[in-house]
Order: sequence, then structure tokens, then C-alpha cells
Amino acid sequence: MIDLAILKGSSFVVLGLARSGLATVRALTAAGIDCTAWDDNASSRDEAARAGARIAEPSTVDWSHVTALVMSPGIPNRLPQPHPAAVAARAAGKPIICDVELLARAQPEAQFVAITGTNGKSTTTSLIGHILQDAGLRCEVGGNIGRGALDLAPLGEGGIYVLELSSYQLELLQTFRANVAIWLNITPDHIDRHGDLAGYVAAKKNIFARQRIGDCAVIGTDDEPSRAVEREMAARPGIACVPVALDRPVAGGVSYRAGMLIDADGYTVDFSDVPTLPGDHNAQNAACAWATCRWLDVPREWIVNGLKSYGGLPHRQERVAAVGHVVYVNDSKATNADATARALSSYRDIYWILGGQAKEGGVEPLAPWFDRIRHAFLIGEATELFAGQLDGKVPYTRCGDLQSALDAAHALAQREATAPAVVLLSPACASWDQWKSYEHRGDAFRAMARALPGAESLGRAA
Ligand code: ADP
Repeated sequence: MIDLAILKGSSFVVLGLARSGLATVRALTAAGIDCTAWDDNASSRDEAARAGARIAEPSTVDWSHVTALVMSPGIPNRLPQPHPAAVAARAAGKPIICDVELLARAQPEAQFVAITGTNGKSTTTSLIGHILQDAGLRCEVGGNIGRGALDLAPLGEGGIYVLELSSYQLELLQTFRANVAIWLNITPDHIDRHGDLAGYVAAKKNIFARQRIGDCAVIGTDDEPSRAVEREMAARPGIACVPVALDRPVAGGVSYRAGMLIDADGYTVDFSDVPTLPGDHNAQNAACAWATCRWLDVPREWIVNGLKSYGGLPHRQERVAAVGHVVYVNDSKATNADATARALSSYRDIYWILGGQAKEGGVEPLAPWFDRIRHAFLIGEATELFAGQLDGKVPYTRCGDLQSALDAAHALAQREATAPAVVLLSPACASWDQWKSYEHRGDAFRAMARALPGAESLGRAA
């Protein structure tokens, strides 16, 4: 837990008592700092009370004595409707911050590597953390992934915090400075909270705010809004701005072309040696991780080792088992067509399990990859919609549930496949018709695949 003694004498209101909010309460009370907490959920309030917080509805708080409102990033502070606590804090002229800001204030000697973007944040964050830990550096990984910022261990000088930061967290930072800021990509998202694309980009750009001479900005340049950000950062004096690009050389940057990652000085890494990071999208994540670790002076060979030993994150094109030529891949996190497109573009011979609760447009946007699909196995509520969309283009079977789909896909793949092929669960659908969550669905798939006759388990044990 982070020691917040440096903030002694302050007084905070903590709103939202899930993972990061409760960690904030615990860190504040452990340091003897005055803390008032609130959540609409009574059991969360009880837990905060047990941790030593005063429980009070924010409208009853005397804001004149409060130093700042620490808000859970998931609660709107501006759009579509500001929470009344945010309105009250602003009216009293009090800052609205999040737990990451408190971490930055309590650990001024440490270095901070911050990662944002619309997609790939968790993968890139965990990959950088893995490479740095593998290289023997003292680092902690958290923020929007894994542990909350104040649950991390204190590192002090020489330590590195590797933090995934969402746009919601980024707009609640005031003094936080990223020594290395990584911007992966931008596509429109979370518009309800940011008003429009410009508002979303502006919130994300806070990752570069307060960077100083000698700091580094690593920027994926495969979309136009990100290219504009890169031009802006390249013009900022004293910041090492490292562009990352797909399929084209970039001066002073890292590119990935034809399965190779190419550093600014021509050093190349063969990406086919990194099976846990398939596809161009993961090459972007790996290239950003590469640029970051190089800036932190990790020797190239060690980064290569870290890439090769990276286990990947669960449910994101996770290789869970193999039987003969066929690898079984759990991509349960792909709950929409866009995410499934990333998976389909990563393999050639695909036995595709899909379905669940369909999103708008269904699988129509995936037509460019239909020629890679040997057979589709349909499950859940979306079965008839998807059957209609695949009809005449891709052979398919209505399977009902996941176990039946896996059994059918397994039988066909084992009969047909003479070269490497995948049985891929990439549903392009929400899971709630048959499962509690995408994790629940993916965990079940992993267990089922590993229970197939002759299956060799791949990847993590979970
Ligand atoms: P995030 O934390 O930003 O949600 P993840 O690393 O959890 O991202 O990846 C979630 C999904 O996003 C992946 O399964 C994949 O479909 C897609 N994805 C991952 N990295 C990228 C990227 N660099 N560009 C585009 N899509 C990506």
C-alpha cells in the first residue's frame, strides 16, 4: 500500500467505493488523514466505515474544510450529468482528482510510465511491466488494470510505476507527470462522457501535460487524430517524441512491417517468434513497449527475451490448448465486430465459434475476412441473425451452446486441417445471454479446450 503521510493535515472526500475507492480510503486512513467516503451501495459504505472512513452523503459535507474530492473515474464529473458531489466540489473551488494523482504526490522520486489509447492499453501495460520485471527493474503495474494505484507497493527513487490510464482517469490528474507517456491509437469512444471526439482526444492528451525536458512521448501514428497529436508533440522542445507505425518507415521511430519490428537504428526483431502477440494490432502494442523500454535503457536482447516470454492476457487471443496442428484460441473479450476483426486478421485457417448477444451490424463488417473461415459454429441468441449474414458466404452450423460448438469445431478441424489452423472463440457478441461475463465465457472455453482428448495445455495455468 502507498504511504500517504506526505498529505498529512489534508482532508479528502472519496466518492465511489469499488476497487480503487476502497484502496484510497485504506491508504488515507492508514496515514491518519481525514477521510469522508460515500457510495450508493450500502455494503461498500460499510466496508469503508470498517476501514476507518467517516460515511456521509456528499451534499451534507462542509466543503470549506475539504482539500479535494477523490472521484472514482467511472462516475461522471461533467457529462452527461455531473454527480452532485462534483458540482458541490466545484462550487467550493475544490479540485476533483483520482487515486493516481495521490500516488504521484506520494511518490515524487519514482518514475512513471503511463499508457493510454482507445485499444491495447491493458496488453501494452502488462507487456511493459513484464519486460521491465524480467530485466530486473523495480516496477509495479496497475491503474486501470489489476490493482488500484494506492494498492501498489511504494517504490521510491529508482522505481517505475507502469500505469494504464483511461480518459476518465486522465482528466482527474493535476500534478501527475509521465516520464514516458504512451499513446497507442484513437477511435471514437466514450463520447457520452467527453461530448465529442475532440473532447475525448483532449482528455487523453492530458497524458502529455506536465511532461518536461528529457521526458519521452511514444505515439502510435496509424490513425489521423493520433498523427495530429504526434505532430504537436514533435514540436514540443526537449521531449523525445518516438513515432510508431505500421507498414511504413518512420524517422526516429519504430515500425512493424511484414512480421518484423524495426527500431530507429535498423535493429530488427522477428515477430513470428512471439506467438502470444498475434496480429498487427499487437505489433503496435509491442512496438510501443519496445520504444518505451529502449528509452528506459533496457538492453535490446533483454527486451527480445521479455517479448518472447510474455504470457499474454487472458481472453485476448489467448492460446489455451493444442491438438496436433490445431491451436485453440480464447478471444472472449471480443464482444464486438471490431475486436473480432483483429483476431480474424491474425490467422489463415479458422474454425470460428461466434454468437451471444449481438451488437448493431452483427458480423456484416467482418466480410473482408470471410475467406479465412473454414466453418462457423453459431451459439446463443445471435444464431439466426448470424446465420442470415453468413448464408451463401461461409459454411456454418447452428450449435446452441459453447460445448457443442467446441466439440463440432474440434471434430471438423481435426478431420480437415493438414496445416496449422485455429479453433477460435471470438464471439463478436456480449456474453450475457448464456454467461455472467466475457471472463466467465472465456474461462469455460479454456477448461473445455484443455479437456479435449489429446489436448496439450498452452499458456497460463488459470
Ligand atoms: P484495452 O485495455 O485498451 O481495452 P486490451 O489490451 O485489453 O485493450 O485489448 C482489448 C482488445 O482490443 C483486444 O482483444 C483486441 O481486439 C483489441 N486491440 C488490442 N490492441 C489493439 C491495438 N493496438 N489496436 C487496435 N485494437 C487493439
